[in-house]
Amino acid sequence: MHIPFCRQKCFYCDFPSFAGKENRMEAYVEALCQQVKIQGLSYQQKWGIPATIYIGGGTPTALPQKLMKKILAAVTEVFGTEIGEFTVECNPGTVDENYFKILRAGGVNRLSFGVQSFQDALLKKIGRIHSGAEACEAVKLAQQAGFVNISVDLMYGLPGQSLTDLQASVAQADALGIQHISIYGLQVEEGTAFARMEEMGKLNLPTEDEAEAMYDYMTNRLPQLGYQRYEVSNFAKAGFESRHNRSYWHDVPYLGLGAAAHSYLEGKRYAAVTDIEAYTAGIKAGQEIWELEEEPSLEHAMEEFAFLALRTAEGISRKAFRDKFQQELDEVYGTVMADLKGQGLLLVDQAGCRLTEKGFKYGNLAFAEFILS
Ligand code: SF4
Repeated sequence: MHIPFCRQKCFYCDFPSFAGKENRMEAYVEALCQQVKIQGLSYQQKWGIPATIYIGGGTPTALPQKLMKKILAAVTEVFGTEIGEFTVECNPGTVDENYFKILRAGGVNRLSFGVQSFQDALLKKIGRIHSGAEACEAVKLAQQAGFVNISVDLMYGLPGQSLTDLQASVAQADALGIQHISIYGLQVEEGTAFARMEEMGKLNLPTEDEAEAMYDYMTNRLPQLGYQRYEVSNFAKAGFESRHNRSYWHDVPYLGLGAAAHSYLEGKRYAAVTDIEAYTAGIKAGQEIWELEEEPSLEHAMEEFAFLALRTAEGISRKAFRDKFQQELDEVYGTVMADLKGQGLLLVDQAGCRLTEKGFKYGNLAFAEFILS
């Protein structure tokens, strides 16, 4: 479920999220609740209660409390309160004790905090609205409200960031006693404030060697702290791997609600309109707000399947590949697998194949080999 509002746009962000549209929130939430009740219900009748629900953004907690309550009430009305994993993305600076109580009462049992760093100077440089202390405070308040499944996002390769900064952020995240950490290397995306700064030569990024040292530090240190890697960017204490993410990587159907949300149902992919006004008006008028995405060719579908599975620690399962495409993994990727195995990037066995630590690090090289078309 997508909430496309943010207090301000972070300088690196190219997600479909908008700042300064607070006056659109009420109508948006009304439309979203309507969609939950109609499409959510028809999903429920066909496939039953979903195993996981994820409210992401944007910044879901940028919504006023009464609007968040409305969404949670609509979810409860359609799906009940027994959702195995129900996550809401939160940003420090938008939440307080009462907000967490509302989330708990609404059945939410997992929180994902966009923290990125605990250093105030870095947070300012990337356009975040909160300080490191506010991030710590937010996580502690969530724990006091009873949340025992909490994830924190951290970024590396930020402008002006040093290895020492990153080490301090990892230590701080761990000291909070959270269960899950996601790591993201900064990518300068087209159309962002950072892209413009880079063009002007004003983005003081770490060198490639420095960014690599940060990556190496995180991927070594997090397992030492008990967070095992289960996907390229995700590390969790045992039993706290995100079930929602897992379903996505393993080709399980999903229903996406809200503007810019994607759905994957009965083998077909749909994308909702990104524009908030078009979404709200469309839902209100009972019009179609989804577009069917082009059916991928068989080769493209195989590539996509391989890319998603390779992101995970389990990798590509021979059986899952056979079940989906009625072809053996070896028939399609036998040579590629042998080659990548030879380079130490891939482990191949009877169950299938998966990236080695080296493979995760040089993932782009490995992924490129899986392109068929
Ligand atoms: S809070 Fe998240 S979605 Fe919003 S602008 Fe920042 S990175 Fe993008």
